Amino acid sequence: MRNFSIAIHGGAGTLVKGLMTTELEAEYKAALKQALDKGYHVLETGGSALDAVETAVKSLEDTPLFNAGKGAVFTAEGTHEMDACIMDGKTRNAGAVSLVTGIKNPVSLARDVMDNSYHVFLAGEGAMQFAKGRGYTIESPEYFYDEIRYQQWQGIKDSETFQLDHSVKKDGKFGTVGAVACDQDGNIAAATSTGGMTNKKWGRVGDSPMVGAGNYANNKTCAISCTGSGEFFIRGVVAYDVASLMEHKNMSLKAASEEVIHKRILEIGGDGGLIAVDANGNIAMPFNTEGMYRGFKTSQGEETVLIYK
Ligand code: ASP
Repeated sequence: MRNFSIAIHGGAGTLVKGLMTTELEAEYKAALKQALDKGYHVLETGGSALDAVETAVKSLEDTPLFNAGKGAVFTAEGTHEMDACIMDGKTRNAGAVSLVTGIKNPVSLARDVMDNSYHVFLAGEGAMQFAKGRGYTIESPEYFYDEIRYQQWQGIKDSETFQLDHSVKKDGKFGTVGAVACDQDGNIAAATSTGGMTNKKWGRVGDSPMVGAGNYANNKTCAISCTGSGEFFIRGVVAYDVASLMEHKNMSLKAASEEVIHKRILEIGGDGGLIAVDANGNIAMPFNTEGMYRGFKTSQGEETVLIYK
């Protein structure tokens, strides 16, 4: 049997160490572990990498601790506009949605776009029509309401400021979520889901739903899910850049992802991190911020959940 593995993240915008309490740390770690276990279970029972990453991301979307699904941040209009992407490294099929509201699990809608439409990326009203056509329940705004997110928004509501998790080090609960996995057949996949930035407007979309920027998978190289300052990650085409270094410069997963996070993205001013897996089940999780909610589990018995360096 081949090695299989899964890695997940809950965002690179962690609480500064001094503000993290023991209880909160335990809560974050338990939520990460739960997502990891659910995704790993899919792999262990012979399921696909694609199903594993969707399962893990759904679990993270369902907890209010992270900025995705339940717990997504508030827009300038006081709504929640969510983005997600999923990609299959075996076929290089992908599905993505952005600016969707009321969808409990945006990652599953992205999967639906991939599996049940001719398209790759649906946005806004159109994506919502697609969701309704596919029988999705539209949750009320109360489902997504979170007091800390609301207070974050109140703090900057009437300003021109957009608050990215990573630019505000003092505040509460942050985190785009993502998962990458390698299954028993050596197929890999990636999924990413986010609420974006607090007080965003004008239909702002970050890197998370964009194939090649925040999310990418190709069996030949790697599966990547990013978290960080989206505007920079789009310009750095970060996820594809890692794959590209592996393919064209023959770099290892670790060397390529570190080159991008510790050098290339920093050069243009971006902060954040990524999780990566290759078809041999190797994992890399570099970040250039103070912390990144993250974890991985492998068929060789390694398992860890971490927040800081
Ligand atoms: N990359 C996400 C965005 O720009 C934010 C994050 O990773 O927390 O929308």
